[in-house]
Amino acid sequence: MDVHAQNTCIICGEHKHEGIHIVSEFICDACEAEMVHTDVQEEKYDFFVHRMKQIWVEKNA
Ligand SMILES: [Zn+2]
Repeated sequence: MDVHAQNTCIICGEHKHEGIHIVSEFICDACEAEMVHTDVQEEKYDFFVHRMKQIWVEKNA
């Protein structure tokens, strides 16, 4: 087992070491940075929010 366990980013699906945990989900630093810099008006922001909601709904279903 790797001591430095990697987390699977819920946005890009890649395995990363660095990132943040929101509730029980992991978002890599790259996606987190992109989210922070994404304007609320942009479609991409909706994508992020929608994607996270979907995952949480699925998990709580
Ligand atoms: Zn990511």
